[in-house]
Amino acid sequence: MYWNIQLGQTAPAWTALVAVFAGLALGSFTGMLVYRLPRGLALDKPGSFCPGCRTPIGWRSNIPLAGFLLQRGRCAHCGGRIHWRYPLSELLCALLALAAWYAFGASLEAIATLLFCAALVALALIDVEHGLLPDRLTLGLLWAGLAYSLAPKSGGAAALLPFPGPGQAIAGAIVGYAFLWLFNRAWRILRKRDGLGLGDCKLLAAMGAWLGFNGLPLVIVPAAVAGALSGLLMIALGRASLSQPIPFGPFLAAGGVFALFLGPDVALLSGLAGAPGLTGP
Ligand SMILES: [Zn+2]
Repeated sequence: MYWNIQLGQTAPAWTALVAVFAGLALGSFTGMLVYRLPRGLALDKPGSFCPGCRTPIGWRSNIPLAGFLLQRGRCAHCGGRIHWRYPLSELLCALLALAAWYAFGASLEAIATLLFCAALVALALIDVEHGLLPDRLTLGLLWAGLAYSLAPKSGGAAALLPFPGPGQAIAGAIVGYAFLWLFNRAWRILRKRDGLGLGDCKLLAAMGAWLGFNGLPLVIVPAAVAGALSGLLMIALGRASLSQPIPFGPFLAAGGVFALFLGPDVALLSGLAGAPGLTGP
């Protein structure tokens, strides 16, 4: 990855461990969001409980990943299976926290990266399970990205950071939304039905706010390629048909993670963008 060389990161190794634990804790919270948000349940109370038997979960079983492994994926009370979303969101957030640490060291950028990625994990998992992207997450992420574009970045304006200033962020949000909205319009004219939901438009708007106008192609191209390939694979395997909508949120989320961590390498290698022009003002 380009960033850590550019920034000359010298974060002590033990901070990587802190990052992993923060990722696990945030992943645990993310798993809770994925369960409660689409079901309209309160986020603050009650504490964690088993959806099968409603028994509150003890602190030992609630330890991210370890609790799941110790109990071999089953509730300590009723023996019901613990849903795969919990270990998966904990594992993904821990890995993304490590990647954020590797890319940005112990910095505000690393924390922002982790929060951005955790929101993407939540959105991807909710879209897979329910086929929707809740406004509270997509719009929350959009506003957070616009707010963060105003924050000073350690690399300064000229640095190759994925988090741009307000000009790029606002343009990215508007164009991100408009691009998918127009795509959906064209799809509706050609095929007489929706190709995407408005949630996808809001999610790409949020990506634009975080990664800037120049970051959008680095989100859209990998997301579209991965989405098309897996759609064709599903049709080939007889698991889906052309008339059946496939949730695009997980592919957009993966595209966002790709653009954040590997976008600058791609841009520099392909000569798509000059080094300082990538983030712009
Ligand atoms: Zn139970």
